[in-house]
Amino acid sequence: MGRIMNIPVADRRSPSNVLVVNAGSSSLKFTMYSMDKETVMARGVVERIGLSEPFLKYERNSDKAVKEEAPVTNHDEALRMVCAKLVDPAKGVLTSLDQVEAIGHRVVHGGENFHDSVIVTNEVKTNIRECISLAPLHNPPNLGGIDACERVFKNIPNVAVFDTAFHHSMPASSYLYAIPYDYYEKFGIRKYGFHGTSHKFVSYATADLLGKPLGELKLITAHMGNGASITAVDRGNVLDTSMGMTPLNGLVMGTRCGDIDPAVVLYLVRRGMSADDIDRVLNKCSGLLGVSGIGSGDMRDNIAAAEGGNMQAQRAIRMFIHRLVSYIGSYYTILEGADAVVFTGGIGENSAYIRERAIKKLDCLGCFLDEEKNNQVAGCPAIISTPESKLKAIVMPTNEELMIARETVRLLTVPSKIIPPCDLK
Ligand code: ADP
Repeated sequence: MGRIMNIPVADRRSPSNVLVVNAGSSSLKFTMYSMDKETVMARGVVERIGLSEPFLKYERNSDKAVKEEAPVTNHDEALRMVCAKLVDPAKGVLTSLDQVEAIGHRVVHGGENFHDSVIVTNEVKTNIRECISLAPLHNPPNLGGIDACERVFKNIPNVAVFDTAFHHSMPASSYLYAIPYDYYEKFGIRKYGFHGTSHKFVSYATADLLGKPLGELKLITAHMGNGASITAVDRGNVLDTSMGMTPLNGLVMGTRCGDIDPAVVLYLVRRGMSADDIDRVLNKCSGLLGVSGIGSGDMRDNIAAAEGGNMQAQRAIRMFIHRLVSYIGSYYTILEGADAVVFTGGIGENSAYIRERAIKKLDCLGCFLDEEKNNQVAGCPAIISTPESKLKAIVMPTNEELMIARETVRLLTVPSKIIPPCDLK
């Protein structure tokens, strides 16, 4: 009789009810999915955790979002309040918390430890903890969210999905900085890239839209929200991305400077500024906010000011477009041609104005804007270049929560039948 090996201990089917958690320093965002048809059952956020006047915003299916006081002081209490809402007889979507089958967590930095999403174990938590020096503001609350879920939901698998993981396929020629190699070896100083979950989501969604496997496409994906990054995706592998060891590098952002000569930092140090001051200026006082001087890094405010004749806001937007188009050109070259440039994030999805200004500079790459389509886009995937364009321009709404839920399902799906190798006698 044949000897059957590798039979899983538990013969598990894919989880259907998946909770996605994104824990920040003072917030806990959640989305409860039914993954059978990828529908959102409920979503919301607890904000101002540990601060004055914390509150919960909760939205069930297509009901209007409701906001209420949240008497919570930490993430455990916030999660318990969310759970109470999910099973609330009047407003809930579950009859019991036992119906939650898995939890997916956003974790910002996976360093070099993680090249993919992973089921959380104690060893995984230790490895996430090791990455805290690379993301001191994000990884601790992300871990706090995992710990809270482990305490509140006993025996439910948790999956960590990293912002950095999709970029792990980058070659060393892209991720190394041209500084002494030991700095990489000793301190892990290299480009990691961020927004990976979004770049991955829109890459797959673009492949669907174009009706081709991702493995046959070369894409340039531009995620432009308050933070912004752009990635060259070569048949599913990241070839390069604009954010670096931290999310400060690359495009002009709402309040972050993006690319800058590192000697500027040295100059400021020598002028007597502290590391903390420079950190604040480059992360919080730069970008659109810093250049325009209008007191806002929000693109809508900057566009309104520019249209109202504010020359500094006009300059800030020109810089934003210049940097974006420079990256598109560079990535088109390293990809040796591309099938599409994909716009996503709050600006990429919603601003016909910014897309028009960028795409009009891409004629030389064979990308021609269809102005009517560009102006008509409303929350749906759309090709906004003309049919004769060699390089397509695409608007693709991102959905990082859904990507986390999909990753959670993928990792926890064990084939229901293990077919024994046929040569076992
Ligand atoms: P986050 O990076 O915080 O997730 P979003 O992806 O929501 O942010 O993007 C926020 C940015 O999108 C802001 O700069 C906002 O002004 C911009 N934005 C949203 N809608 C529009 C619009 N219709 N036109 C221009 N910019 C927009």
